[in-house]
Amino acid sequence: MTDRDGPAPLHLRGVTKRYGEVVALDGVDLEVAPGLITTLVGPSGCGKSTLLGVVAGLTAPTAGRVHLGGRDVTELPAERRGVVLVFQEHRLFPFLTALEDVAFGLRMRGVPRRERERRAATMLERVGLGGLGSRRPAELSGGQRQRVALARALVLDPQVLLLDEPLASLDPHLRDGLRELVVELQRERALTTLVVTHDREEAVVFGDRLAVLLDGRLHQHAEPRDVVERPATGEVARFIGATEVLPGRRTGDRVTTPVGPLPLPVGVPGPGGRAAAGAEGAEMAEPAKGAEGAGGADVEVVLRRDRLRLRAAEAATDSGPGAPDDVRSERCLLAGRVAAARYLGTRTRVTVTIDGHELTVEAPSAELAAFGAGAAVTLKVPAEAVWLVPAGPSR
Ligand code: ADP
Ligand code: MG
Repeated sequence: MTDRDGPAPLHLRGVTKRYGEVVALDGVDLEVAPGLITTLVGPSGCGKSTLLGVVAGLTAPTAGRVHLGGRDVTELPAERRGVVLVFQEHRLFPFLTALEDVAFGLRMRGVPRRERERRAATMLERVGLGGLGSRRPAELSGGQRQRVALARALVLDPQVLLLDEPLASLDPHLRDGLRELVVELQRERALTTLVVTHDREEAVVFGDRLAVLLDGRLHQHAEPRDVVERPATGEVARFIGATEVLPGRRTGDRVTTPVGPLPLPVGVPGPGGRAAAGAEGAEMAEPAKGAEGAGGADVEVVLRRDRLRLRAAEAATDSGPGAPDDVRSERCLLAGRVAAARYLGTRTRVTVTIDGHELTVEAPSAELAAFGAGAAVTLKVPAEAVWLVPAGPSR
């Protein structure tokens, strides 16, 4: 499987996997970008490992097809797919040295001893373990064992690399280094790579694309920034976090919420055609349209915590908090009181109570140092902080 004309595309079409009553994967359509890193994120039990197993050929799907490099590989045995899977726990052979372990797959393929030892040694060198080829797993640290596992996978020159929570078992201070190594190795080979994680922060920084799997269903697949800033569903917004999600009703050029009227997102036109609709805006607004005739559409209003602004209450004099003018000028001011302030180091999180509802602002600590519990404040909701998704469970 070493002859190829560039990175392999990997497509899943309607992949479903049932274990008795449990639906681990529910009609997943996913086009994994060739030559890039796609991160698959979701909470524990959402079907991530099952999806990797289906791609690797270790798990037969109940329905659906897997296409790899333009071929339907659904019925192809694992060893003939050109796919390697690196597990969270390294699964090294306890009795083999690092060099023997990395060379093992080549041995299975009938590569002569000298050749496989040369290739294994080069690969070990590349993952930063040049001097440790004679060590057994018990003599290696967790991070080193994970590097051996990576070398063992890459020495086979796969078309697709699958990594199941590769950093999860490592100490936090080792994670950055290993993640950078994975990215370097992937870039050198332009290898189609699918990385699974349950860590939302890691998911956003790891890959070129981010796929969000919740309860066996793919909710969104886009560039990480789009997933964070324009979540496709309320569930995605809640899972990725750093947001508030409120029920809302879209009426005219605003959206009504329990904390008051808020501006529409940037790029979403009101009935007066306030702003030109961006492509995403139009797409986002679409599903809610049907309900609009009956006095507004039901939506979920996603507020980005890092785009909300706080100021001391005295400063909000001009037209008064929450006045319609503020909504029209695309900045909504809400009067509230600080319920709690939490210092997180470089950032601080301040929770504000507004009419019995809590909203949280997160910003650099220097900006929020002045806001202690009990302080009367004005919360500013600029249009840039607002995103709308159709209400209710998706699909
Ligand atoms: P994740 O990797 O996202 O934590 P999994 O893919 O391991 O999730 O599991 C998805 C769901 O399928 C879970 O409910 C899990 O209990 C179930 N499951 C996974 N493997 C099996 C199996 N071999 N037999 C029965 N149920 C399974
Ligand atoms: Mg798993």
